[in-house]
Amino acid sequence: MPRPVLATIDTNALAHNLQVVAQRLARDATGAAPSIWAVMKSHGYGHGIAAAVRGFSQADGLAMLDLDEAVRCRELGWTGPILLLEGFFEPADLDVLSRYCLSTTIHCAEQLDMLEAGLVRAPIDAFVKLNTGMHRLGFQPGEYADAYARARALQALGVLGSVGKMTHFARADDDAAVTRAQLDCFRAATRGLPGAVSVCNSAATLTPGFAAGAADAEQWVRPGICLYGASPFADQSAESFDLRPAMTLSARLISTHVVPAGEAVGYGQVFRAPHPMRVGIVACGYADGYPRHAATGTPVTVAGVRTRLVGRVSMDMLAVDLDSVPAASVGAPVVLWGQGGPSVDEVALSCGTIGYELLCAVAPRVPRREL
Ligand SMILES: *Cc1c(COP(=O)(O)O)cnc(C)c1O
Repeated sequence: MPRPVLATIDTNALAHNLQVVAQRLARDATGAAPSIWAVMKSHGYGHGIAAAVRGFSQADGLAMLDLDEAVRCRELGWTGPILLLEGFFEPADLDVLSRYCLSTTIHCAEQLDMLEAGLVRAPIDAFVKLNTGMHRLGFQPGEYADAYARARALQALGVLGSVGKMTHFARADDDAAVTRAQLDCFRAATRGLPGAVSVCNSAATLTPGFAAGAADAEQWVRPGICLYGASPFADQSAESFDLRPAMTLSARLISTHVVPAGEAVGYGQVFRAPHPMRVGIVACGYADGYPRHAATGTPVTVAGVRTRLVGRVSMDMLAVDLDSVPAASVGAPVVLWGQGGPSVDEVALSCGTIGYELLCAVAPRVPRREL
């Protein structure tokens, strides 16, 4: 018998969330609704490439970073567009891009140099990225027209296929004024340049106005986290958008006992039982990807009852308060996050991080089962 910890991936939830996003976009659009790149970097936000490809079969395109993951999508039968969000890294990658028909981001002059020096077997579709204030990837506004002109020249040579424009928002989840300023910067720097536009992550996609406001041009949004049923916003739950959790991390109780009043549970003795307290030990720890810094009080569901984590998370185990679940015994089902348990965003809040990090961090040793 394997250890009783499991990540269940619900590909129907992925498909449902994609549909929710598509319907919102269709409702908010002033003209044609934007197309959707389903972002599935980092192994589909921890859900697995195969599950993501299956769940997002109705997406207009897939977006990721890793060339191997992109090739895997092709091997799994995905024939639609694939956008590489960091583009390519060295000249040899160009052959992979044209062989597997992968679209690229072009975010720096070195990538243009490589394209100008390289030979490709088929034109590569590209988005030239503008830095509108995120200061991560992209050309500065003052450099953009030149970079774009170089891309168009490569297009005329048959090295590039279509050429579009993109940027990325820094605070679409918490500051609309910053996002509007970035959008203004984008519009000013790309004015008069033809091609498709791609600007919105999940937060901007779910905020009416940003996806609809971009334009006359063909538009692509790039939602990630919301498609997995987690929220990009600190103050709005995924549920409030009718998004469903696609990953459920579950385990079982492997021991229960009563901790006498005043005795402590786990390493560092950071939690002491205020009264004789029934505690359950769960077969999930930080080596499974459950965050070690989850504090006492972090929500967890045992046998369908919501209770709390107590004490420090160990490598392979964690402890839960069973006072409210008197009937739970060894073998009782535990949901750490997902369907039938707390949301991954609630757990993230209790440990000072975001749902993204928890989803991506589920360890390879945790068996995954696809629904
Ligand atoms: C990760 C990423 C996205 C998706 O972000 P979410 O917040 O998960 O929606 C979109 N665009 C780029 C460039 C990204 O790196």
